[in-house]
Amino acid sequence: MLELTQISKHYGDNAALLPTDLRVERATTVVLIGPSGCGKSTLLRLIAGLITADSGSIHFDGTPVEAATIRQLRQRMGYVIQEGGLFPHLSARANVTLMARYLRRDPQWIDARLSQLRELVQLPADLLESFPAQLSGGQRQRVSLMRALMLDPELLLLDEPLGALDPMIRYQLQKELKLIFAQLGKTVILVTHDLAEAAYLGHTLVLIKDGRIVQSGPFEALSRQPAEAFVEEFIHAQRGPLEALTGGGT
Ligand code: ADP
Ligand code: MG
Repeated sequence: MLELTQISKHYGDNAALLPTDLRVERATTVVLIGPSGCGKSTLLRLIAGLITADSGSIHFDGTPVEAATIRQLRQRMGYVIQEGGLFPHLSARANVTLMARYLRRDPQWIDARLSQLRELVQLPADLLESFPAQLSGGQRQRVSLMRALMLDPELLLLDEPLGALDPMIRYQLQKELKLIFAQLGKTVILVTHDLAEAAYLGHTLVLIKDGRIVQSGPFEALSRQPAEAFVEEFIHAQRGPLEALTGGGT
């Protein structure tokens, strides 16, 4: 459903993303993972058409992502930016329904969709009237997810959607996200720097380092057949502390 060909992006002399190829199949979850600053958000922003590539092309179901098509295509994508990106001066309800109201969707349809999503992400009804600052981190993430899902997008782009949460809530939401992705059959591209989260949620992991895809495939493939030393190092760095405590790995 999504095809990136030799897509690259520089900021001045800094190569945020070297020429990169990536294919994303429909109804799969692809996880972009790698150290901070490796280019994960840049890749997501390029797909969402928020920034323009220096080279290469992106096709969404055969349509090139470019200035002339992006407005139409964006309505088929839901995007949760890093830190959630809720408007602080709008209630949860207003945040979630903003685009739908702008597009003049039927108010009854909007209300029905809102209840449906609220149940999906398990947000208590009274919290819809709260402002982002009045919500907990977990509740804000749920609202951000509702907003991204409002127009029933075919492609969901999630940039560290669980980034700022404490471990217990994070674990809870990971389980919920996995259920939601499976239930909705969505195509999802999710960014994380957490390997366990990537392995749990992703059909395919795309490990990035310094603007370059080092290896992509299921977690098992990266773990058993690392393409280069960095893959092993990355996996060990994340597993290391626990393995050291428990006296060895699996
Ligand atoms: P990640 O999401 O993996 O942490 P980013 O994609 O945000 O990394 O950033 C990749 C690189 O591009 C980093 O070196 C970052 O400093 C740089 N970069 C990202 N956005 C900008 C920008 N708007 N202006 C200048 N440099 C940027
Ligand atoms: Mg980022």
